[in-house]
Amino acid sequence: MAVSALTMDSIAPIRTVKRIQLGILSPDEIRAMSSSEGGIRYAEVYENGRPKLGGLMDPRLGTVDRMMRCQTCAGNMTECPGHFGHIDLAKPVFHIGFLTKTIKVLRCVCFYCSRLLASPENAKMKEALSRSKGNPKKRLMMVYDVCKAKKICEGGAEIDSKKDDAGEAVPEDKKKSGFSGCGRYQPSIRRSGLDLTGEWKQTNEESQEKKQPISADRVLEIFRNISDEDCLLLGFDPKYILDYQDILV
Ligand SMILES: [Zn+2]
Ligand SMILES: [Zn+2]
Repeated sequence: MAVSALTMDSIAPIRTVKRIQLGILSPDEIRAMSSSEGGIRYAEVYENGRPKLGGLMDPRLGTVDRMMRCQTCAGNMTECPGHFGHIDLAKPVFHIGFLTKTIKVLRCVCFYCSRLLASPENAKMKEALSRSKGNPKKRLMMVYDVCKAKKICEGGAEIDSKKDDAGEAVPEDKKKSGFSGCGRYQPSIRRSGLDLTGEWKQTNEESQEKKQPISADRVLEIFRNISDEDCLLLGFDPKYILDYQDILV
């Protein structure tokens, strides 16, 4: 909701809010909303006694100085509501507010091919999906409970097997169109502060390190490869978590 700095009431018709959809802003949306074109690039606050353009106190963000006017709305200290700026980061970093959820999702998908670690055909998954219909929060929780124990990306073995988790015979058609992961061993994900580490009990290649730091770059790559289908199974709507950068590039 925009707060007008003008004293006159708006002539726009008043509408009743019926529903609200929350989502995450994409980098391009944040840049488009930002008053500081080019972003905040300098740690310096002042230059020659005035707030530095592109600095942490960029005059386009508003003013706290009685003698100055805001360079975005020309309002003075009391009139200007303040405006959002942005900082372009050189590398992806974990967002502390989302880190718990980030780790949850990371434990649900394959570290290598981004497929969901449990097949939607798996009996426990079927139950989790039907019991969490229409409740995305519950869905992530329940799908997480099924996936977290999986130490391997279910591959050809599951399709070839004659029985599923409930001990029922897998029908012929399911065998062919069945879930096919990459079959690679999954790391346990451990968190220490803002750092993530992957630990492998077993690895597919002898030479692979058993313990590796997991960068935010890597996690972003894993998440970008999650299919829309799996995204929905995790309780997220791909429409509202879209990374617009991918489309514009
Ligand atoms: Zn202003
Ligand atoms: Zn995989």
